[in-house]
Amino acid sequence: MSDNNLMEKLVSLCKRRGFIFPGSEIYGGLANSWDYGPLGVELKNNIKKLWWKKFVQQRDDMVGIDAALMMNPKVWQASGHISNFSDPLIECKKCHTRFRADTFDQKQCPNCKGTEFTAAKEFNLMFKTFMGPAEEEANIVYFRPETAQAMFVDFPQVLETSRQRIPFGIAQIGKAFRNEITPGNFIFRTREFEQMEIEYFIQEKDWQKYFEYWLEEMKTWLSDIGVDSSKLHYVDIPDNERAHYSKRTVDIEFDYPFGQRELYGIAYRTNYDLSQHQNASKQDLEYRDPENGEKFLPHVIEPTFGVDRTFLAVLLSAYTEIEGGRSTTTEAIKESEVVLKLDKKIAPVKIAVLPLSKKDEVSIPARELANKLRKNWYVQYDETGSIGKRYRRQDEIGTPYCVTYDFDSLEDGKVTVRDRDTMLQERVALADLEKYFKERLED
Ligand code: ATP
Repeated sequence: MSDNNLMEKLVSLCKRRGFIFPGSEIYGGLANSWDYGPLGVELKNNIKKLWWKKFVQQRDDMVGIDAALMMNPKVWQASGHISNFSDPLIECKKCHTRFRADTFDQKQCPNCKGTEFTAAKEFNLMFKTFMGPAEEEANIVYFRPETAQAMFVDFPQVLETSRQRIPFGIAQIGKAFRNEITPGNFIFRTREFEQMEIEYFIQEKDWQKYFEYWLEEMKTWLSDIGVDSSKLHYVDIPDNERAHYSKRTVDIEFDYPFGQRELYGIAYRTNYDLSQHQNASKQDLEYRDPENGEKFLPHVIEPTFGVDRTFLAVLLSAYTEIEGGRSTTTEAIKESEVVLKLDKKIAPVKIAVLPLSKKDEVSIPARELANKLRKNWYVQYDETGSIGKRYRRQDEIGTPYCVTYDFDSLEDGKVTVRDRDTMLQERVALADLEKYFKERLED
């Protein structure tokens, strides 16, 4: 399968099965906006929930926040976003289409074939709007272009209320907005996206140790959620290409079908942000060491994870095509079958209950069983089509377990459980079923 093909197939699967739809589609869409559908929201929420559990709830040294999307514009002045958060743009003189100057290496405009371009101009990527009814300069606010700054701005309040001691971290999951010049490649680069970010506050002398530590944590996370490790690259960004505030940055890149591009990043931001905010706000943001009374501005390691790029990397890693189909189905299948080998922890639907017949004597207890399992897991009940078709529908969305309820179940009180990956089928007593799934679906 060529890489282009893979991307096309994945986008089509996402649309067909309700993972991701083009946004505002009945009005002809809105360029590069995407809506997560019924299965997509489950998968995305599972990724976020797992991340929060691993990096916040299961740790003693981490607390979370959920800050407002619109912050006082002084935040963005102090952070440098108003003056620096820009890409260089050139414009075709004929059709006025704009391109990113740093990545545009063609002689002709791809839109109109024009050959004359303006000189590069900086274009700020922040979305602006007005707060309140008057559309005037004084009321301009920005949608945050990253979640990170709220963690710096709220640092003194978190410190006071959580009684954390350094080293400790603040985590946040939330939307960020960037008026990207060249969005595209499905959900890889959009203007509205989600981030999961950590600011880990440390003493300056420890930065190397914690940089390595968090890089390892990121690797473990990627393996936990089933991202194909053979497609990952860890790229140390050279001095002249790093953001001015960073003393070390590693980009974690993934082999997408459209090329090797950034998935996540980790940066040592020194104490740049806290010192900028301390100077601009005139507030004391220093940390006082309770042991020796020493006061200092903590340094920061920032691991950052894009939610949408995680979603894409997870799907690309899980997508498997089996030529000629799989052998359990009774029908002869000529075409290939798709199996999404998603990690069980993040699969949108955990269990499908499939009665072998639509007759009441089987379908009623099967529905009851589905309702019972639903209390703990996201379950789909499906009674339409042959059993082979129903298995294929579930394989295609990555459901780890299918339970078939048949006429024998009425006699022996057992159901058949089929495993998505091994395709092994076993008879399990109804009385043991919840325990069976607890052991397999919960960690
Ligand atoms: P890129 O170089 O691809 O523009 P970046 O280096 O600007 O990314 P960061 O500012 O480090 O990105 O943002 C942190 C994370 O947020 C990225 O690693 C990525 O996962 C995600 N991200 C950034 N921009 C976008 C976007 N436009 N659409 C989707 N995810 C994004």
